[in-house]
Amino acid sequence: MTSPDRITKTTCPYCGVGCTLELHLRGDFIHRVTSPFESVVNHGNLCVKGRFGYDFIYSPKRVTAPMMRKTPQRPGHRTQAFDLSEWREVSWDEALDHVADRLVEIYRRDGSDAMAVYSCAKATNEDNYLLQKLWRALFRTNNVDHCTRLCHAASVTALLKSLGTTAMSNTAAEVLKSDVFICTGTNTTENHPIIALQMKKAIIERGAKLIVIDPRRIELCDLATLWLPLKPGTNVVVFGAMAHVILKEKLYNQAFIDARTEGFDAFAASMEPFTPEYAEAISGVDRNLIVAAARLYASAQNGAIFWGMGISQLSQGTASALGLIHLALLTGHIGREGTGLNPLRGQNNVQGASDAGAMPFHYPGYMEVVKDENAEKWERAWNIEPGGLSRKRGLTTTEILANAKPGGVRSLYIMGENPMMTEPNLNVTRHHMEQLEFLVAQDVFINESGAFADVFLPATSWAEKDGTFTNTDRRVQRVRKALEPRGQARPDWQILCDLAGRLEQRLGRPSTAGWIYAKPEEVFREMANVATMLKGVTYARLEQVGLQYPVPDEDHPGTPFLFAESFPAGRGKFFPLEYIPIAEPPDDEYPFILTTGRLLEHWHGGSMTRNSQLDVLYPEARFEIHPIDAAQLSLKTSDVVRVSSRRGTVVLRANVTEKTTPGVVFIPMHFVEAASNLLTIDVLDAQAKIPEFKACAVNVRIASESELTNPGAVTERGRY
Ligand code: SF4
Repeated sequence: MTSPDRITKTTCPYCGVGCTLELHLRGDFIHRVTSPFESVVNHGNLCVKGRFGYDFIYSPKRVTAPMMRKTPQRPGHRTQAFDLSEWREVSWDEALDHVADRLVEIYRRDGSDAMAVYSCAKATNEDNYLLQKLWRALFRTNNVDHCTRLCHAASVTALLKSLGTTAMSNTAAEVLKSDVFICTGTNTTENHPIIALQMKKAIIERGAKLIVIDPRRIELCDLATLWLPLKPGTNVVVFGAMAHVILKEKLYNQAFIDARTEGFDAFAASMEPFTPEYAEAISGVDRNLIVAAARLYASAQNGAIFWGMGISQLSQGTASALGLIHLALLTGHIGREGTGLNPLRGQNNVQGASDAGAMPFHYPGYMEVVKDENAEKWERAWNIEPGGLSRKRGLTTTEILANAKPGGVRSLYIMGENPMMTEPNLNVTRHHMEQLEFLVAQDVFINESGAFADVFLPATSWAEKDGTFTNTDRRVQRVRKALEPRGQARPDWQILCDLAGRLEQRLGRPSTAGWIYAKPEEVFREMANVATMLKGVTYARLEQVGLQYPVPDEDHPGTPFLFAESFPAGRGKFFPLEYIPIAEPPDDEYPFILTTGRLLEHWHGGSMTRNSQLDVLYPEARFEIHPIDAAQLSLKTSDVVRVSSRRGTVVLRANVTEKTTPGVVFIPMHFVEAASNLLTIDVLDAQAKIPEFKACAVNVRIASESELTNPGAVTERGRY
């Protein structure tokens, strides 16, 4: 084996587990990735993405010079350009001057509400902090959001309402201390593989009992004591029925409820109709399974709940997450090691981007923008005149695009996101993108959204910059530069500081807000000085090991689990709940429920994995359908099918499998050739504003091979 000339320790750029990577380098090339056995998060284990998914940084499709469109783009007539002949390479100065000129022109003409930015859950905490600071401090808008809106916004909303906090309460590895745990709405082996390894160990070596509540027969079902195969979108009913059983059989923890919660009586009354029989009729889950699950969880010594986007990506996502919170509050399975409420965060730094304030309702550290005392703190930190920061909540990702019209949002700056793959109802998203007056994309590749842009700014990959990511269990970890940037690419934080200086000059704003940083460490220090949950986190400490916030001072060791004594909200709050069905139930015309999700081999909109060797492992989208449904359609594996909803159509190959349940079909979200979000519905959860990705009605027709020519693709080119 070739020996490296250096090894750089860093953090995986894919999922929220946050595994430690060792990049083995010879010259300019990573030739191998390993992980040290002593790594706290993953103990030397890596999944296929972490071990083999790094080569996208060498892709010839990567764009490493600033580019501007040759043909001026007009609102309503904006087009996509994937071919580089439609762009001209420009200097950084020309690109940034043009961006600054156009943004200031639009801001002066139309004001703060015309400005919006998508931040990036793949970028570092420092990048995200600076991006939200720039739009808030210079354009005085809170129109700042990122893909947390599309994954766990409902979990965040529910946790804030009930407990006053947003993140996982416990450390994922504490599952080894649980005797019972629930996995619901999470295909953990595919989406958080290393956490799934720990779950398997808990079951096989420690005898823990697993309850899976999921419409799909995920791999963990093989090890589960109980599997409750509910219909998509019926979580509130199933969790409500479990609460009903716990209440009726007096399995709740009265002492915990008395000492630590409020709202119990009204909540208990609201659970009265949620009998197991009622839940069976709505959800399709055998009433005896619901009773057994309630008894098993309630009688545990240490019961934990892990959930994913099958809970949050629903129009009743907040209610679904509250249903889980109620179970923990009823039984007192929170505030101790091996218990807790654990929403498994998707992207590598979606937790950190949220913590860093890349959200429309909160400054860094979850300080609400509508409260004067919070705004005043950041005005002092950023040297802004009193009252200068906006106290108005900003628009969410989906709302930003829906408001892309005259009188609404006119300029959008996208750092590292790809709404043309990740928003619901992509035909409508395309229409919104076309309406923008000015669009900037800052990324590694020109993706489906960047192809609409006026200006493309080439950013470095994670391997070419320093900073920090925060993983799903609140652990801040170092990202270390292993390589020089390719071509003219620059780290996001440097691009933003360079742009901010130009904007300050044009806006005539005092330059004392400070956009001159020698290194990301200085950016982190500025954030942590006000966002006190990070106060004790320093780069020097992170050199040794990641730290789990809250870390209130530099002597504090970090906090593996929360709520030992109290909740940030004081008492944990119960809320009465009612069941509201999904927005678009199946009917005669569209008889199947489509649910969407991720695969082990790929990631999100695919911009990294589909440009890596991982694409060879799983090169095309597959439509999953249960054998019973397939038989009725005379459909077999590898047949081509046309799947349509009221919003669009995709054509792809079928996979007949018992991984799904009768009446429920599945399409992964990564493939532009059969983009699942052409089908999904853009109805939102009223509180969290998260779309209902996990349930919409579709029909299925057998199609011919010739139809596999991409009729529903969101781009003309078929793939990246
Ligand atoms: Fe990376 Fe997640 Fe895989 Fe770990 S489990 S190697 S963090 S993708």
